Amino acid sequence: MAVSGRGPYDPQNIFAKILRGEIPCRKVYENDYALAFHDIAPQAPVHVLVIPKGPYVSFADFSQAAGDAEIAGFTRAVGHVAGLLGLDEDGYRLLANMGVAAGQEVPHFHVHLFGGAALGPMLH
Ligand code: ADP
Repeated sequence: MAVSGRGPYDPQNIFAKILRGEIPCRKVYENDYALAFHDIAPQAPVHVLVIPKGPYVSFADFSQAAGDAEIAGFTRAVGHVAGLLGLDEDGYRLLANMGVAAGQEVPHFHVHLFGGAALGPMLH
């Protein structure tokens, strides 16, 4: 079910549990500010989620409430993961669903990274 993308942050959401190690993920990369792992229901040959370690509900929340170091660390993690996965040459797509209109389902900000194929006009 889609969520509003506005607070308060729910510490029981599934990505919070992944960050705490309470449920497993297929980790791709981690730095001080971000964790990247494979999506459980991939919509492209490569479909990875990158999430900040801080408690941000959505892009709206993250972009306003996160500190500069968190924003930089998160953004660099996204770019680093694309390189790690070998997507720089052929290209890739980034997508973040914010709130009900976009169909955001997990109330912890995440960027989808899609690649590994010609992606067509829209995914998600
Ligand atoms: P939507 O489901 O509409 O794409 P979101 O943008 O909130 O909404 O994306 C949530 C993503 O999280 C989905 O792609 C879903 O497959 C993925 N997901 C849900 N649970 C897990 C999990 N335990 N591990 C990895 N990915 C997950």
